[in-house]
Amino acid sequence: MHSSSSIGPDINFEQAPAQDGSSGRAVVVGGSLAGLLTSLALASAGWKVTVLERTVRHGIQGAFLRAARGRQRTMLRFDGIESPSLREIASGGADQPVEPWSRIHGRLHAAAVAEPLINLRDGTAVRDIGQHDNAAWAETTTGERFTADVLIGADGHRSVVRRHVSPETPDARYAGYLLWLGSLREAELPEELWLPPGDNGVMEWGRGILFAHTFPGDDGSSMPGRRIASFALYDADRGPAMRRLGVVEGSVVQHSLRPQDIPADLVSEVADGLSEWPQPWEAIIRTAFRRHRVTGTPIAEFVPTRLAAGRLALVGNAAHVPTPMTGSGFDESVEDAESIRSALTSISGATVPAALRAYEAERLTAVQRTVESGQGFSRSFAGT
Ligand SMILES: Cc1cc2nc3c(=O)[nH]c(=O)nc-3n(C[C@H](O)[C@H](O)[C@H](O)COP(=O)(O)OP(=O)(O)OC[C@H]3O[C@@H](n4cnc5c(N)ncnc54)[C@H](O)[C@@H]3O)c2cc1C
Repeated sequence: MHSSSSIGPDINFEQAPAQDGSSGRAVVVGGSLAGLLTSLALASAGWKVTVLERTVRHGIQGAFLRAARGRQRTMLRFDGIESPSLREIASGGADQPVEPWSRIHGRLHAAAVAEPLINLRDGTAVRDIGQHDNAAWAETTTGERFTADVLIGADGHRSVVRRHVSPETPDARYAGYLLWLGSLREAELPEELWLPPGDNGVMEWGRGILFAHTFPGDDGSSMPGRRIASFALYDADRGPAMRRLGVVEGSVVQHSLRPQDIPADLVSEVADGLSEWPQPWEAIIRTAFRRHRVTGTPIAEFVPTRLAAGRLALVGNAAHVPTPMTGSGFDESVEDAESIRSALTSISGATVPAALRAYEAERLTAVQRTVESGQGFSRSFAGT
């Protein structure tokens, strides 16, 4: 963390303009993948960035992604020095296969910690945001106020910032199904459930779809018995339970279902539907439920009509929420970050709204298409 680069609480921006030759000041709400990517992109363009993230430790259990290194190898920084591209940072410079979400987040977080222009404020929840002609601000639940030239919402599918950018459509809509995400160390399983090398993939059984992967263990070993077995099970049969538990209200997802909050009768209901799944995954999934290592993630979708308003802009899942079936959320977040960087490069504070309109013009159609491309799957899978 770099307290020296903090915008700090209660600083009135108009009375305290940047005196240090930096391009400008940004507040980013949300420090998950999209927030960290955008912060790194803006810092590389000379912006001082404060990231406000409500959680202290991340770890979406069981979610996995692929952060491809891509062709772009370096970014030219504002000071003329070359630095790794966003994809290189996220992938660790290697052509990674699918990985646990936490590893990609860990690389981006470490790069943000090492960047002097970024001030990471983990454990800081934003209650409200606003703007006027000369500045935008975020207010935290403890009453701190952070003011900057630009405020970027990277606060996910239930974004607070989206309420100000597109108040007419503030909510993502429940897509009618959820993902059970789970993982277990193979060492916790009997040997007969260790998977043959390369046993990854997609399976369909009845109404369910299963994405299953093994990953190297925490020591980097891919030896059977030392790996992590991870799964994502698409389930369209739990609508009544989701509503009964208050996880979904009306058409809006309220929260995920944490392992400790999954009631025993719901576990039995899901387990009944597993009886015909192939081994060893049937047994692995049952074990993961029994050991409280599964999170229920209701899937939401959101097709945006706006990405910016004045000095506010949205990136990542705050901006557009495609079903994970599209496999595109991470790539779109990289594109958002690169596009916003190029829009905000070499501008003065007064032209921020015009730059953010340019960002919206560049990205809106592409992200609308991405979300829409997944809606056909959602409708047929959820039977809506
Ligand atoms: C189950 C699942 C599987 C997925 N699989 C894939 C895949 O295979 N491939 C792919 O490319 N994409 C996938 N995605 C999508 C991908 O994970 C996201 O698109 C990408 O991580 C960008 O997310 P984000 O940072 O915008 O939002 P999030 O990860 O939701 O992060 C939002 C952050 O904002 C913080 N926050 C929220 N409100 C506040 C507040 N008021 N104050 C402060 N902080 C706040 C949250 O704590 C969180 O850290 C998947 C998503 C899910 C849910």
